[in-house]
Amino acid sequence: MENSKVYFTDFRTVLEQSQGVKLQKLCRKAGIGDIDFEGKFVAIKMHFGELGNFSYIRPNYVKAVADLIKELGGKPFLTDCNTLYPGSRKNAVDHLYNAEVNGFNSVTTGCYVIIADGLKGTDEATVEVPNGEYCKEAYIGRALYDADVIISLSHFKGHEMTGFGGAIKNIGMGGGSRAGKMIQHNDGKPIVNPDLCRSCKLCARECGSDAISYETGKAVINQDLCKGCGRCIGACAFDAISNQSGTALESLCCKMAEYTAAICNGKPCFHITLIMDVSPNCDCHGENDAPILPNIGMLASFDPVALDQACADLCQKAEPIRNSQLGDNLAKEGWHHHHDHFLDSNPNIKWKETLEHGEKIGLGTREYELIKL
Ligand code: SF4
Ligand code: SF4
Repeated sequence: MENSKVYFTDFRTVLEQSQGVKLQKLCRKAGIGDIDFEGKFVAIKMHFGELGNFSYIRPNYVKAVADLIKELGGKPFLTDCNTLYPGSRKNAVDHLYNAEVNGFNSVTTGCYVIIADGLKGTDEATVEVPNGEYCKEAYIGRALYDADVIISLSHFKGHEMTGFGGAIKNIGMGGGSRAGKMIQHNDGKPIVNPDLCRSCKLCARECGSDAISYETGKAVINQDLCKGCGRCIGACAFDAISNQSGTALESLCCKMAEYTAAICNGKPCFHITLIMDVSPNCDCHGENDAPILPNIGMLASFDPVALDQACADLCQKAEPIRNSQLGDNLAKEGWHHHHDHFLDSNPNIKWKETLEHGEKIGLGTREYELIKL
């Protein structure tokens, strides 16, 4: 496979040139205009941010993308699927309210929000996974299946299970219906190391499945109730919760890449990622800890693997922010330095697997040319 082109611009600007105009220029340079949008339904797949989380992509950037798509003849709508775990986006009613509260509506973005997998996360389509090794078929939100074109607009940040969240996570995990998310997560049920557990009970507060109890005084995860969402791992400040085996996280990462391939298969897809407000954990959290890295820039590509690889590489080159989860870890006495910002922020993750498997199944290539505007 040849190198893919990834286009990049930083957040510097000149007088009277808004970030939105910069983003539109980036998309044009990256070739978005080559897609035939005329009269097409265009899904802008994004994440509306859990209530309480402030680090999701601002609606202003979304409007810039939606306006550009309309200018090119398309009919854009904003979309995401419901979450697997209870929270503020677990059904379409709560999800739409969440989107509205976080500023996504027809006035601010110029288009409507449609929850891709319907009221209860069951409005799905079953599609083939091209070259799938872990999944032969994928369960995806119906609106994503019905869309003629998919634009991924993702917020690049750290993640407690997959190391980072970017284009592949946005499409693959975010585009799965509830059943699709279960299948991607179901090998990833964590356990508690009682020697490290300090019985602070923060993990149970984070768990929406009532899977954590304290009969022994220490946290215990009921494996039958656990949905493998990983929120408790991020909640534990003492590294007491981890995945049961090294292969579980690996399979989650690989399945995400396979779901992305399934969702993008056979239709035009274009990927945009903003590396800003790089919180240590997912936007699914009802809070966002301080960024671990400075704002870096905006990127766009037709290749989600190349795009995520380029984002990861730019992040690795950035200086960690001292007053952050990453900075705290690096400053700990005796800390085992991984010389990898994602691993040093969230130890035990396996972020490279997503990209390696994405390349293996033909989703894209990790070899890229970074074209700076
Ligand atoms: S968050 Fe960690 S330390 Fe606190 S109860 Fe849960 S496992 Fe134990
Ligand atoms: S992974 Fe943790 S937070 Fe998620 S359902 Fe299981 S026990 Fe609860």
